[in-house]
Amino acid sequence: MNENGRKIELPASIVIRDLAVKIEKSPIEIIKKLMTNGVMATINQAVDFDTAAIVVAEYGFEAVAETVEEEKPEETGEVPMWRQVIAKEDAATLKSRPPVLTILGHVDHGKTSLLDVIRSAHVAEGEAGGITQHIGAYQVELKGRLLSFLDTPGHAAFTAMRARGAQGADIVILVVAADDGVMPQTREAIAHAKAARVPIIVALNKIDKPNANPDRVKQQLAEVGLVPDEWGGNTMIIPVSAKQKIGIDDLLEAALLVADNTEIRANPNGTVIGTVIEAEVDKSRGTVATLLVQNGTLEAGEIVVAGTAYGKLRAMTDHKGKPVRKAGPSTPVAVLGLNGVPAAGDVFRVVESEREAREIVNERLEAAKARANEKKVSLEDLFASFQAGEARELNLIVKADVQGSLEPIMSELEKLGKGEIGIKILYAETGNIGENDVMLASASSAIIIGFNVQADVPARRLAEKEGVSLRLYEIIYRMTEDIEKALKGMLEPAIVEKVLGHAQVLAVFSASKLGKVAGCKVTDGELRRNARIRLLRGGDILYEGDLASLRHEKEDVKEMRTGFECGVGFKNFSNIQVGDQLVCYVMEKSS
Ligand code: GDP
Repeated sequence: MNENGRKIELPASIVIRDLAVKIEKSPIEIIKKLMTNGVMATINQAVDFDTAAIVVAEYGFEAVAETVEEEKPEETGEVPMWRQVIAKEDAATLKSRPPVLTILGHVDHGKTSLLDVIRSAHVAEGEAGGITQHIGAYQVELKGRLLSFLDTPGHAAFTAMRARGAQGADIVILVVAADDGVMPQTREAIAHAKAARVPIIVALNKIDKPNANPDRVKQQLAEVGLVPDEWGGNTMIIPVSAKQKIGIDDLLEAALLVADNTEIRANPNGTVIGTVIEAEVDKSRGTVATLLVQNGTLEAGEIVVAGTAYGKLRAMTDHKGKPVRKAGPSTPVAVLGLNGVPAAGDVFRVVESEREAREIVNERLEAAKARANEKKVSLEDLFASFQAGEARELNLIVKADVQGSLEPIMSELEKLGKGEIGIKILYAETGNIGENDVMLASASSAIIIGFNVQADVPARRLAEKEGVSLRLYEIIYRMTEDIEKALKGMLEPAIVEKVLGHAQVLAVFSASKLGKVAGCKVTDGELRRNARIRLLRGGDILYEGDLASLRHEKEDVKEMRTGFECGVGFKNFSNIQVGDQLVCYVMEKSS
């Protein structure tokens, strides 16, 4: 073989897809090779250098370590307003400011515990034992330096902020439980942080547990692209125990180290701008909003516009509930005086007069109205932006019922993404579509593809509000057809399924013309003749097609409502059993 001994540079960790491109082989072939070596990996997963070296050796390549270049965040996407403001400041006026950190991770991995232990260990007690207030953010001190923490665990606030281009955090602390490892929300959090281009430090929590397995978790982290620095990668992984208060200072020191390498700066005397962390109405005090100042210095008594709310700041307190007159960059403060409740992630600014504030708010309300009916990320719109040359990639989030269906879906999408317009899969996971998926889709202009999964009700509502396309499929070729059409710009308006009702099969009869007929009871909604019907047994779909006949007491009927019993006939199908479920639906153009 003339390929023999050819050298190939490989990084400390490489995604299968990239490896395939590098050696010009099909990713499926590589996945198979890995499987024969006992490694299970999907196309979007990364393998470490050693594993990749074995694979490439099978094709006659000799792997050599790539010279590591410092990872630079991609310079694409929207730059948050406050960063733009800082960029306009005279460089000589910029001073370093405390880093703003947010803690993300899988449920139960210890986000809340970690936030609590950091807060209690390092927030100086208020005078006379003052009680720390929960205002959605706090500051701690380590060796005379401050760090600001966003105290809103869970992705919602973080993503809401990013969705509005605010990107409040400078560093993400990703909590991973050492006894549980990388889980779906861990991967999701990584996707959030990467999309926001925020550096990640891993807090490897629960190391006190007897079944903690840090090495396994490090391996998993390397597989998802967070290669530990001790293995030659550039992710700091700090072992901690929130429960036993181990490693907390190491974690904060790591954060300061990352901060020092990231040039976290602002002009304390410049234009005042920042982000709303959270806001709510208090019965006696009116709107209480937590603001994170990101440039300039906010002063009590100033007039602030935040989203579509404005007002003169009546009072300003720090996270200890202590009144303050001024708040500089990276300082979170709770303020009173806004006339409405801004959303988490809204940008705030200081203006000269209430009149100016009103004008800005009116303009924003008008703009919001104009946007209200606009769909943001439908496949159709995306194609329009492809044609206009604004986008060259279709971002997708894929959710499927089981791992086994993800793999063929990914390989199909992989094939489709080879054309002029690429396909980028932000992540592919098993499980139903939830609000987090929709938030990430909205923030990244992505479309969510669901395969044999449902979107829960809050997720559907959010998708509607944010204008995110959810596309649910049961058959792979329907999905690939749709995507292919979208990529070619031939997509017809989406046809979506509208469920009319459900019924349960109580008996099975023989009928001369139709073979078998199902005796059913309509359990909700209605069954309608000329509609479509699906027959389910357990989770399996056994029939999907036209509803051939609908009878009630020997009469043909057009429809049958909840509570009634009726006979249902199918076209060329008679494998009906008592207990089968029927779903009656029509296909409609989505608005
Ligand atoms: P969250 O859902 O990520 O906010 O997780 P929590 O902070 O609520 O923690 C989930 C569970 O893990 C709780 O029962 C905690 O007591 C426990 N936990 C958190 N950190 C540690 C740790 O370092 N060691 C042990 N053994 N348990 C922990």
